[in-house]
Amino acid sequence: MASLPILQFEEKIVETVEQNPVVVIIGETGSGKSTQLSQILHRRGYTKSGVVAVTQPRRVAAVSVARRVAQELDVNLGDEVGYAIRFEDRTSGRTRIKYLTDGVLLRESLSNPELSEYSVIILDEAHERSLNTDILLGLMKRLVKLRPSNLRVLITSATLDGNKVSNFFSNCPMLTVPGKLYPVEILYSKERPTSYIESSLKTAIDIHVRQPEGDVLIFMTGQDDIEKLVSKLEDKIQTLEEGSCMDAIVLPLHGSLPPEMQVRVFSPPPPNCRRFIVATNIAETSLTVDGVVYVIDSGYVKQRQYNPTSGMYSLDVVQISKVQADQRAGRAGRTRPGKCYRLYPSKIYQDEFLDATIPEIQRSSLAGSVLYLKSMDLPDIDILKFDFLDRPSSDSLEDALKQLYLIDAIDEEGSITSIGRVMAELPLEPSLSRTLLEANDYGCLSQALTIAAMLSAETSLLPGRSKNTEKKRKPPPDLPDGSGLGDHIQLLQIYEYWHEMDYDIGWCKENDLQVRGMRFVRDVRKQLSQIMQKIARGSLDVRLNESERERRRDYKNLRNALCAGYAGQLAERMSLHNGYRTMGFKSQLVQVHPSSVLGTDDQGMFPEFVVYHELISTSRPYMRNVCAIEGSWVMPIMKKLGNLNVSKLSGGSGRIADGEEKASDLLEQKNAGTIQNDQ
Ligand code: ADP
Repeated sequence: MASLPILQFEEKIVETVEQNPVVVIIGETGSGKSTQLSQILHRRGYTKSGVVAVTQPRRVAAVSVARRVAQELDVNLGDEVGYAIRFEDRTSGRTRIKYLTDGVLLRESLSNPELSEYSVIILDEAHERSLNTDILLGLMKRLVKLRPSNLRVLITSATLDGNKVSNFFSNCPMLTVPGKLYPVEILYSKERPTSYIESSLKTAIDIHVRQPEGDVLIFMTGQDDIEKLVSKLEDKIQTLEEGSCMDAIVLPLHGSLPPEMQVRVFSPPPPNCRRFIVATNIAETSLTVDGVVYVIDSGYVKQRQYNPTSGMYSLDVVQISKVQADQRAGRAGRTRPGKCYRLYPSKIYQDEFLDATIPEIQRSSLAGSVLYLKSMDLPDIDILKFDFLDRPSSDSLEDALKQLYLIDAIDEEGSITSIGRVMAELPLEPSLSRTLLEANDYGCLSQALTIAAMLSAETSLLPGRSKNTEKKRKPPPDLPDGSGLGDHIQLLQIYEYWHEMDYDIGWCKENDLQVRGMRFVRDVRKQLSQIMQKIARGSLDVRLNESERERRRDYKNLRNALCAGYAGQLAERMSLHNGYRTMGFKSQLVQVHPSSVLGTDDQGMFPEFVVYHELISTSRPYMRNVCAIEGSWVMPIMKKLGNLNVSKLSGGSGRIADGEEKASDLLEQKNAGTIQNDQ
């Protein structure tokens, strides 16, 4: 620790921070930004007047770095050093250094726009350009003007174009911490491999057999591939004919790894043992694993992109940017000269890789962010003119406004409604917060809380099932028959059944449900329920105990509430096409995702109308998590859609104002289009 580069700059850093409200700090990954800056400021008295906050774009990094800093300061995690991530707060009144996700800080600024608890706010890992960090950058610009004497903001980054951020903050000072990087030899493949799992495996074994000691870091695109490679590597190492003089252990590293497994990556390896760390891009800059000398880089990353014109998400494996490739290579040179095996030709790096990664704000749905900004009531901020480091597209802002309007979060003039204000207080995406509020009115809040919690934890419910595999969710036996109603109802039934079984662990195992995931759901559900009750003390009459009547098997009230929350995500059956037609802003043919409890429409059992949680484009456009709704609920929504005036909604400003495009026109176009309803 004593040798971390940033520590040699302590005086300079403190001096600059004392004299300037905003400072940009650029330092190589592993130079100590995440773990040391907060401690330097703590030593220098900045925690006397408030808490030092350090944001992280990733949950796992917030937890891991907080744990490390608590260790270094020899305090219990949750006391002087704590962390807060969504649904998990490990801080106390004694906490002076607080690690938190950027989303949590954004949320805190809703209830306390001046963030008065903090004396210093460090936006860490700004180069990741996460959506929430980008929004926080805009808010910080405003905040330093409001609190010129008692707030310091530090923006740190490994690779970011520091000048751009410095310009954004009126040319604030920028400190560069030179990293101690040893040379890394780059070895390119002659061509792209047909299977990069096999190619990584072969390269890893070659290194193990032929190269001197040193850990190997392998970049994969996702949890599924990591698990495959880990098991192949383990098999191969055990059966190696041409042996290595070293032992080997293989460790996975990704965001949904249980904490005890993450710890293993940070503990020193046994003597004479080579570690193979198989990681997602989380190991690019977020988590620094010591001891790595060899890097294997597939050149790919899994990226979620949102298309605002179609409302569709795609989870694509895309080529990394040059910046990412260089970061990956850099991981090999931290302890001594290293090697990076790029499983692609140098021509691809030169000609095809983008220089930098596209910021998340330009590839995400902005409905949630726009709702936050609207609910902050910042007098000097017009959402369409918000000061972004990189502006999102007008299409994307327009899409967010339309979505929010359809679920009553903003009115036809674009002003936030009382419903919208309450929604913003819930740590959920707008569709689910809206569902909870509607469910409360319909007397089925308890059920809706379960669904929101199940959807929030979905990825960790089923073992080895990442979010987008096409494996069908197996309905546990003995469930009452609600399966024709869709996935939300099934998720509810699974949880209710588990509840009736007294949260039995054995039952989870028998039904292929991860115990950790189910416990997380229980915890999230409890927290959501507490938040609803807290809101109730303010403005809402929360009714948690639904009457027996609501437990009827058609779940009508609950489905009605879901319909209100997903009003922009409606679809109508097209039996000739064996699928559905979306009915929101754009009409397109989509299919029910194969993982759905509805399965296929073999028996013509698909409901006439459904709402869906998200549209995702993999091999074709799919609706993931669908719920059957009644035809009579659709008309009022279509009417609302027909009245939508985009120009009014945007408050008459920006590009949106130029197009007098009305949703009723859109509807007409749609009806005149090629896709005709075949019902
Ligand atoms: P930066 O933010 O500049 O990338 P960090 O402060 O994250 O650097 O890392 C500094 C050092 O602390 C590295 O050597 C890293 O391996 C170590 N470190 C960080 N987190 C942990 C942890 N949870 N456990 C053990 N070591 C850690």
